[in-house]
Amino acid sequence: MTLSDNKNASLSRACDAEAETALLTINLSALKANWRKLKSIGANAECGAVIKANAYGLGYAPVMRALHEAGCRKFFVATIAEGEAARQLFSDATIFVLDGIVIGGANRLVAAQLTPIIGSYEELEDWSRLSTQLGRKLQAGIHFDTGMRRLGFGALEAAHVAQLCRKIEPILILSHFVSAQIEHCDLNIKQLSQFDVIRRQFPNIAASMANSSAVFLSQRPHFDLLRPGYALYGGNPTPAVKNPMQSVITLQARILVVRDIEAGDCVGYDATWIASRPSKIATLAIGYADGLHLSASGDKHKPAAKAFMNGHYCPYIGRVSMDYIVIDVTDAPDSSVKRGDLVELLGPHISIDDFAAAANVIGYEVLTRLGARYTRQYIEEDLSALAP
Ligand SMILES: *Cc1c(COP(=O)(O)O)cnc(C)c1O
Repeated sequence: MTLSDNKNASLSRACDAEAETALLTINLSALKANWRKLKSIGANAECGAVIKANAYGLGYAPVMRALHEAGCRKFFVATIAEGEAARQLFSDATIFVLDGIVIGGANRLVAAQLTPIIGSYEELEDWSRLSTQLGRKLQAGIHFDTGMRRLGFGALEAAHVAQLCRKIEPILILSHFVSAQIEHCDLNIKQLSQFDVIRRQFPNIAASMANSSAVFLSQRPHFDLLRPGYALYGGNPTPAVKNPMQSVITLQARILVVRDIEAGDCVGYDATWIASRPSKIATLAIGYADGLHLSASGDKHKPAAKAFMNGHYCPYIGRVSMDYIVIDVTDAPDSSVKRGDLVELLGPHISIDDFAAAANVIGYEVLTRLGARYTRQYIEEDLSALAP
């Protein structure tokens, strides 16, 4: 038995019980190992976790529980509703809301003990007014824009903003890199030097600049708090080199039917694929309604994404449709392809980033589009020794 057989065996063991058509397995041990790895690279910095967008599609509750168990106490969400949901799970966590104080949201933030990341004078005013009303300084993070131009005060406003923060309690200042995944990028240097200027105006306040990729930059812009998302979930934060993170998710679909077709037969909508030889093809019970991009189909300009089964990579053929993908299994050994088998679409052999490249999207999009129709199972299994 090869190492990869072993791994497949352990995954299929976990799902033998039911006959799901497609299965998303989320390995919480790998998630925790990834968090611990980022934390150790950050050395003295605290390691938080970004769990916005339902923990990048993996499910915020099991993800937050696992990370809390690993020791994480600072979480970032995008919306107030996400923050309220996260607050239900743990009372001892700091939950930062990246959207800040959306209009009418201040009271909800206070009620759920959420910490807004403030990036405008209007928000600062709202939060200061509410602090005065309540008779206590409400905590907030302060967002500075050093290049993204999405949210945050300008770097030149730092001194003024620091003065205006008298009525509230800033507990974090943060900024966000434009191109943290590129090691030699002038913009990183420029943003870091602006952030230095900003930090001087907030001498005793924790600072945070590092998303997943920035944790790995040679400048080590870790400051006091890391804010990784993508790398926790197994995405490659260092696209120029091998992924240092463990694979966390495995997406498998069952073969509904295996059939033989003739040379010249077409497959799928619009006949975009025509067999050049007698072929054996398999139809999988998964499609774009499950989050697998239509653009993962092959066409004149690019090859299709591939599925993996029993040691073989089998390309998608024809168009990905809503509920089905057809793969070419002609070159897989006969005995290894049969109705009911589970085929890997994402996982240890097909990384999120590989699939994303084949579909002309980014891995973040692959994760956040993970569908809701298939069965999800959460396992705790140490597969690190079996990495391909
Ligand atoms: C989403 C987000 C992160 C996490 O980024 P990753 O690249 O997923 O690690 C960190 N900070 C901010 C402000 C974000 O919006």
